[in-house]
Amino acid sequence: MSRPRAAAPRMKGGLDLGGTKIQAVVTDGEANVLGTARRETPHGGPEKVMLELAETMRAALDDAGVELMGLAGVGVGAPGSIDADSGTVLQVPNIDGWHAPYPLGPALQEELGRPVGIGNDVNVAVEAERRFGAGRGFDSFLGVFWGTGVGGGIVVDGKHLVGRGSAGEIGHVCSKPGGRRCNCGLEGCVEAYAGRAHLEERAQEAAKERKTILFELMEKKGRTRLSSGVFASALEKGDKLAKELVDEAVWALSIALASVQNLLALEAIVIGGGLGDRLGEPFVRRIDDAMQPLLFVPDAAPTLLNSTFGDLSGAVGAAVMVGG
Ligand SMILES: [Zn+2]
Repeated sequence: MSRPRAAAPRMKGGLDLGGTKIQAVVTDGEANVLGTARRETPHGGPEKVMLELAETMRAALDDAGVELMGLAGVGVGAPGSIDADSGTVLQVPNIDGWHAPYPLGPALQEELGRPVGIGNDVNVAVEAERRFGAGRGFDSFLGVFWGTGVGGGIVVDGKHLVGRGSAGEIGHVCSKPGGRRCNCGLEGCVEAYAGRAHLEERAQEAAKERKTILFELMEKKGRTRLSSGVFASALEKGDKLAKELVDEAVWALSIALASVQNLLALEAIVIGGGLGDRLGEPFVRRIDDAMQPLLFVPDAAPTLLNSTFGDLSGAVGAAVMVGG
């Protein structure tokens, strides 16, 4: 361990709180990452989660060789609905034991002794891509985070479009009327075909009758879920079921993205998230190709790009949020 560097107060901490993992970064105040740490999201309620967020932040500081007091502040990107003014996380759909609103911002601020800001995880990730990543230089783009669920955020005329609060929910745009039921209760959503959780559910059903190496790979990797990495390896090894499921995800995404493009005439679409990141450039090209025949103005097709920060975009975005 090297000696801690003299810490300038412009450095920032960022935490991305997910259903299965907590990712922390320390940045130089822009988007350069000086240190990272990752831990599992604990079960047992919001206070335990808050303490683990603090521990993960301390581990990232160690990794960066920066002291806590060297941080201008810490940003947290959290799923679900957030009251940013009070730092309260109102509702979290994917975290065990978190059933009631919890003042995560104030509690973490007391634990760490640094200013803490809270934002929605997808919004902060879009902000990171807009200011420092793949969205830089575009006045209008859609950020798509293709992972366990499918989230998104829209930037139009250089501004993040919020609408009445939930603008950008690309995962719940309909790809197939009357199609598969989504976790949100609607039918035929993009997420019901492309979300990692849905792919896993469908793989489990299909594996009763068909051969697949997906679950064998999962065990080999010591995982309990079909992670994005498991899907990526299965595709590389030519697993037919994995290929079919991901083909369908590409189909559902391209229908929805082409419709969004026809409505908003965007300059770019930035694709990130666990699956977007692991499947990478070749799948962004496939989505691009599948969109082309559905575009109203093919000559003004959007530029499709992979996100710059990959699975760090939530944590980097949370850090970017600190101090505006
Ligand atoms: Zn849905």
